[in-house]
Amino acid sequence: PLVLGLESSCDETGVGIVRGHTLLANEVASSVDLHVRFGGVVPEVASRAHLSALIPTIERAAEKAEIDLADVDAIAVTAGPGLMGALVVGLASAKALAAYLGKPLYGVNHLVGHVAVDLLDHGALPMPSIALLVSGGHTSLLHVEDIATKITEIGATIDDAAGEAYDKVARILGLSYPGGPVIDKLAQEGDPNAIRFPRGLTARHDLEKHRYDFSFSGLKTAVARWVEQRRLDGGHIPVADVAASFQESVCDVLTAKTAAAAQEYGVGTILLGGGVAANSRLRTLLEERANAVGIELRRPRPGLCTDNGAMIAAVASEVIRAGIEPSGLDISAHSGLPVSRIAV
Ligand code: ATP
Ligand code: MG
Ligand code: FE
Repeated sequence: PLVLGLESSCDETGVGIVRGHTLLANEVASSVDLHVRFGGVVPEVASRAHLSALIPTIERAAEKAEIDLADVDAIAVTAGPGLMGALVVGLASAKALAAYLGKPLYGVNHLVGHVAVDLLDHGALPMPSIALLVSGGHTSLLHVEDIATKITEIGATIDDAAGEAYDKVARILGLSYPGGPVIDKLAQEGDPNAIRFPRGLTARHDLEKHRYDFSFSGLKTAVARWVEQRRLDGGHIPVADVAASFQESVCDVLTAKTAAAAQEYGVGTILLGGGVAANSRLRTLLEERANAVGIELRRPRPGLCTDNGAMIAAVASEVIRAGIEPSGLDISAHSGLPVSRIAV
């Protein structure tokens, strides 16, 4: 089917057009520049930006895909999780389009989009799989039995998300927002073994209760303390070494737990998704560890890892394939939608 996907859960207005597993267009308008001076996304500002960006972005996507909107088979939209006001703008637009064009509407889960987007790069997703979802607001291990109908969260962060940790550590180091891409780049000039930062929830007693869970707030505090101590001592801060050492701790824990889960659940494939999946160190370390235990790794190209509309269209394509009924035009936004609820 030809599916138009709208994404507006945070600060990216995304419009994607896919036909089956083929990506035809993926236009993203980001309001990140408006949030930079606040060091984080301001919900009201994001909502207003979506409102003005949606229509031009839809028009650009249709032009790129060389399609007429009247030819789409379905409209897909993010129903959650995300910022309430931002989600509402996308949902209202999607409902209006669906009603006007007389097409079915599918309200789908943003987090599932981060996992499903890889099928646009590498074809049908092998099931069952273990997915590592690492984004700005979430960090979870998922047992994916069917991408359209059955996803179980087997572990999650007990405090900060991985992306949030990157953003906070960037702030501690005086780097710009969002911190993930900046630390990724800077870390390439640093020594990942310069400082041994803690690996959250990996001690034996933690593993008993939190085998597949993560914790990054202790790591963030450890980085802050280390930097503070260095300042008190009057020493210079080796920013690249701190960035590389912090990144090594995050990626070490994420990849070790993911490889263990894949083996223990007996799956043949690991899926990687979410904004942090663009991270160069995470991509190579996970590949090494998956290879070492004979498990295939599927990871989307970096440009599809952060928020976009194509990932929403990808989920709807799978939901349609599974024969699930479309959503009613009366669906609402769910800011805390759990990942197990794939479509609303
Ligand atoms: P969620 O998907 O949980 O609702 P979100 O949509 O805001 O949250 P994403 O767009 O998936 O989050 O990801 C944004 C996060 O990814 C930010 O925290 C950003 O710092 C991080 N990120 C982006 N690129 C990289 C990178 N190369 N390395 C590490 N982190 C990165
Ligand atoms: Mg974003
Ligand atoms: Fe996201």
